[in-house]
Amino acid sequence: MDRRNIIIVGAGAIGCAVARELSRYELNITVLEKECDVAGGISGRNSAVVHAGFNNRPGSLMAKLCVEGNQGFEGLCKELDVPYRKTGKVLVAFDERDLQTLRATIEQGERNGCRGLRLIGRQELNDFLPGIGGIGGMVSPETAITDPFLYCIALAENALENGAQFRFNACVTDIRKQEGAFVVRTESGEEFRAEHVINCAGMNSDRIAEMAGVSGYRLYPCRGEYFILDRGLDQQIPMPVYPAPRAGIGGLGVHLTPTTAGNVIIGPSAEYIPQTDDLSCTREVMDQLLAEAKALWPAFDRKEIIGNYAGIRPKLAPPEEGGYRDFVIREEPDQPGLIDLIGIESPGLTASMPIARMVREIIGQRTELKEKAGFTVEHRRPVRFRDLSEEEQAKLIEQDPEYGEIICRCQKVTKREIRNAIENPFGAKSISAIKYRAWATTGRCNGGYCLTRIVDMLINEYHVKPEEITYRSSGSELFSGEVK
Ligand SMILES: Cc1cc2nc3c(=O)[nH]c(=O)nc-3n(C[C@H](O)[C@H](O)[C@H](O)COP(=O)(O)OP(=O)(O)OC[C@H]3O[C@@H](n4cnc5c(N)ncnc54)[C@H](O)[C@@H]3O)c2cc1C
Repeated sequence: MDRRNIIIVGAGAIGCAVARELSRYELNITVLEKECDVAGGISGRNSAVVHAGFNNRPGSLMAKLCVEGNQGFEGLCKELDVPYRKTGKVLVAFDERDLQTLRATIEQGERNGCRGLRLIGRQELNDFLPGIGGIGGMVSPETAITDPFLYCIALAENALENGAQFRFNACVTDIRKQEGAFVVRTESGEEFRAEHVINCAGMNSDRIAEMAGVSGYRLYPCRGEYFILDRGLDQQIPMPVYPAPRAGIGGLGVHLTPTTAGNVIIGPSAEYIPQTDDLSCTREVMDQLLAEAKALWPAFDRKEIIGNYAGIRPKLAPPEEGGYRDFVIREEPDQPGLIDLIGIESPGLTASMPIARMVREIIGQRTELKEKAGFTVEHRRPVRFRDLSEEEQAKLIEQDPEYGEIICRCQKVTKREIRNAIENPFGAKSISAIKYRAWATTGRCNGGYCLTRIVDMLINEYHVKPEEITYRSSGSELFSGEVK
């Protein structure tokens, strides 16, 4: 075995960040991912907020890595051409007790190294966010928003450009030690040998650790459900609006958050559930979200809702404890070479790159890391037509008439952009792969207009059989049987 083989299990934000960071060095990196694309787990189902780091316990890894992540995120997004907007964030107080909590939050944030936190009164709250209720609040100027799909895609594509390999539809089912090396087996029976296994399997990371011989971790799934509101509402909610923190709940409270695409999301709830993969949105929680959103934003109109989704927090804290336990990021003393990343819940997206650097440091303690000549730092993504000026759009159409044909009307996505998405370097041809790259199907009609056109392109131009077309991974086929 080449002693520099590294297996990363999972291609979420953490696995992709680790792959990107390690691809700076002379290492053979293979990422094994059970889904057909990156960001198929928690990383594609969150609030997409680049947190400042004031919510986390001083001295914890969560606090340290979040603050570092926040401070480096803008530069990283510039390198990788990922949407990023430093919006700032407001936490709203409804009574004196909330104000008291916010004073303590500022103190905690300052201990963590957060910058610019301050209390505001009703008047200033009104200046920032005219439609929002409350008696005052706290401002965090360093909070930002990003696009978690494009972030993961960019990290992964950049790692690929720098020599890392990605294997999709590769579910890890067994890990054993043989002659000093790990043998990692996937569902299809393929085996990979490696000196290091980096467990970035999100909600399944306790099971991956167990497969590798380390028992004792247990993750508790805690679901967060969301509403998605139509594009344009980011004009009314230009920054994340959260309630003042409440102790003991499994999340940060139901909040209103603009997305970089111009929508607003409402959520997430926090509910411990028995299954790790139950992504349903439930009537009860949806009603609760509506009530909490109305309390924060009295003018909110439910006719703006265009969709919903849910994400699952991989919690180390059991339901009876609630709140947060710190990230586990360590090489297992009883299983040298196995690096476990467990309980990477919020703020894991924000902290992903500092987490990756921590993994690199751990590997560097056992293996001499030699920097690769010619590492490519920058990554560029295909152009987004609707973001261009009219002159730029006209120029593009002249160069390539496919930019003149709109496939997704709601989001103004052109045929050329759909083609760019289909021709992604990972060969992911699922509808979700196209959706997250080109942002088609995400508008008010939920794909009513563009889905059939995208399907036609896949069938006629890429010779994909209708029954092979999936929404996500296998099991989510769009068609079955014969159609006249
Ligand atoms: C509701 C919610 C809101 C959040 N909001 C924020 C926020 O605003 N800001 C923030 O910073 N963080 C937020 N987070 C946290 C953040 O989303 C996560 O910390 C981060 O996405 C975790 O990434 P990951 O790579 O560890 O997990 P994942 O993205 O789940 O990646 C793990 C990958 O491993 C794969 N996998 C699992 N088992 C196997 C196997 N056996 N073989 C191969 N592959 C396997 C999965 O398919 C998956 O793709 C939020 C999380 C939730 C749930």
